[in-house]
Amino acid sequence: MQKTMLIDTSKCTGCRACQAACKQWNQLPAEQTAFNGTYENPANFSPVTWTKIVFNYKDKDANGRVHWLFSKQGCMHCTEAACIKVCPANAIYRTDFGTVRIDPDRCIGCNYCAANCTYQVIGFDRAANVARKCTFCYDRITNGEIPACAKTCPTGAITYGERSELIPLAQQRVQQLQQAGNSEANLYGLEELNGLAMMYVLESNPESYGLIENPRIKLSTHIWDIIFKPVRILVVAAAFFALWVNRGESKKESD
Ligand code: SF4
Ligand code: SF4
Ligand code: SF4
Repeated sequence: MQKTMLIDTSKCTGCRACQAACKQWNQLPAEQTAFNGTYENPANFSPVTWTKIVFNYKDKDANGRVHWLFSKQGCMHCTEAACIKVCPANAIYRTDFGTVRIDPDRCIGCNYCAANCTYQVIGFDRAANVARKCTFCYDRITNGEIPACAKTCPTGAITYGERSELIPLAQQRVQQLQQAGNSEANLYGLEELNGLAMMYVLESNPESYGLIENPRIKLSTHIWDIIFKPVRILVVAAAFFALWVNRGESKKESD
């Protein structure tokens, strides 16, 4: 099963209802922010902001007017997920829905996932010493509900469903936009990092939306993955060995 959200930016009005719904459902408080010259608010992802509308614009559209390029962004639930590769505690895993989830009970607060996330969407909760990000509303989808952001979008810009069903829908929509005169319309998330569970119909190139064109996992992440895994096995084996030796010694003392 691969659940996916298709975000059609051509239908997004930047209303931020999805951003608010995410906060409400996940009981995330508001953040105090300052005006920084853009309507985008807050400026960054954080432990309490898991999704937000990124504001960009083209100076002039075909009618000579500013054309907004709004996009709901957050964790992309990448198939090739850097966060899973680097987590030394196996606290980040792929769910049965094909999404990526952090188990807060296993998170040891090392922050490696935040440092290595391809899209820089993980927030680090210093008070709880835990990394946090969009859960793809794991608690809702396991109960047959659709994610809060998709449920609330008033314009139908977010469609939630099976990836295999959403791909043709997305391709059709891109074609429709191209036929209507937008030759730049394209699909993002189909092939990037072997597929993102957040797929986008874009009206312009990914960079215009602040999205990475051809994202790649950093070499250092691969090296960390290759080197750390055997070391982790050694550490666990050493811990078991120490426990076994200690138990033997304690038994001798009590005899
Ligand atoms: S966007 Fe970042 S946190 Fe989300 S799956 Fe990809 S690497 Fe992990
Ligand atoms: S899926 Fe849920 S947690 Fe993720 S952005 Fe949407 S509302 Fe927030
Ligand atoms: S709720 Fe829908 S229209 Fe409003 S900002 Fe989010 S994706 Fe865009």
